[in-house]
Amino acid sequence: QTPSRFNITDAFQVRNIYRPRKPFSHKGTFGHALLIAGSEGKIGAAVLSAKACLRAGVGLLSCHIPTCGYEIMQIAAPGAMCFVDEQRDHSSGFHNHVLTPEAAAKFRTIGIGPGLGTAAGTCWALEKLLDHYRQPIVIDADALNILASSPALLKKVPAGSLLTPHPKEFERLFGKTANDVERLQVLSQNAVERQLNILLKGRYTAMAFPDGSIWFNATGNPGMATGGSGDVLTGILTSLLAQGYSPQDTMLLGVYLHGLAGDHAAAIHSEEAMIAEDIVEFLGKTFLELR
Ligand code: AMP
Ligand code: MG
Repeated sequence: QTPSRFNITDAFQVRNIYRPRKPFSHKGTFGHALLIAGSEGKIGAAVLSAKACLRAGVGLLSCHIPTCGYEIMQIAAPGAMCFVDEQRDHSSGFHNHVLTPEAAAKFRTIGIGPGLGTAAGTCWALEKLLDHYRQPIVIDADALNILASSPALLKKVPAGSLLTPHPKEFERLFGKTANDVERLQVLSQNAVERQLNILLKGRYTAMAFPDGSIWFNATGNPGMATGGSGDVLTGILTSLLAQGYSPQDTMLLGVYLHGLAGDHAAAIHSEEAMIAEDIVEFLGKTFLELR
């Protein structure tokens, strides 16, 4: 059967992707992820992302954050380990590139971007990271904005990586489009040519894969149009990728889970009152439904 170009994810499909834990598994089974996030005034983005990453089942999580976020992160997410970036101008959370190739290799994956800022030092550090680390990584928010400012840097993104722009970030990365059809073409074309997994966030998040297929996700609701919602998604994706799901399965399962957790949050708190933390809180109920 020839795979169709346009597809829609459903509960049946994500249940097939989902792998329940085996009784004799241990922390090492579920990977060690590194999250690079946060800057002064945006440590919340790093916290939300870290909490979502832990809740989505990662074995171990290390967070690279600016000094000003150290206590905040340790208190908000005690399950995460932290190392700090002693940046000088405080405008950005990623200056001192501390990741030697050996250090980077111990992380099964890296998630980068939430609340990161786009200071010059951060652009430099991101470039060093992309020089050292050749496994798929999850790239979001300000890390995408940095890539958008440098085509050479965008070319260095490892094949198989996951890019998660919202429409504005998408436009900065790949240019303006006249309508939705053209936007989907640009999305798919970039996924194929760059061998990347790229999603475009929205009511029906579209996910484009290197094989040319496009998948739409139907879970989620307008209650998720709230600050930090996307940072939660980055944490979930980083977590699933670290657990050994393929980049495509990570995207299909992660986006579905994120939206369904948002639906559960809205059912209890209302679309108006729900906040990004609530999406994290309802991840547990959502996982139970996959069994
Ligand atoms: P961000 O803009 O990075 O915070 O990401 C927002 C997240 O919330 C994305 O995963 C969107 O798909 C989701 N979202 C925002 N608005 C809606 C909506 N109206 N319906 C469904 N999901 C939404
Ligand atoms: Mg975002």
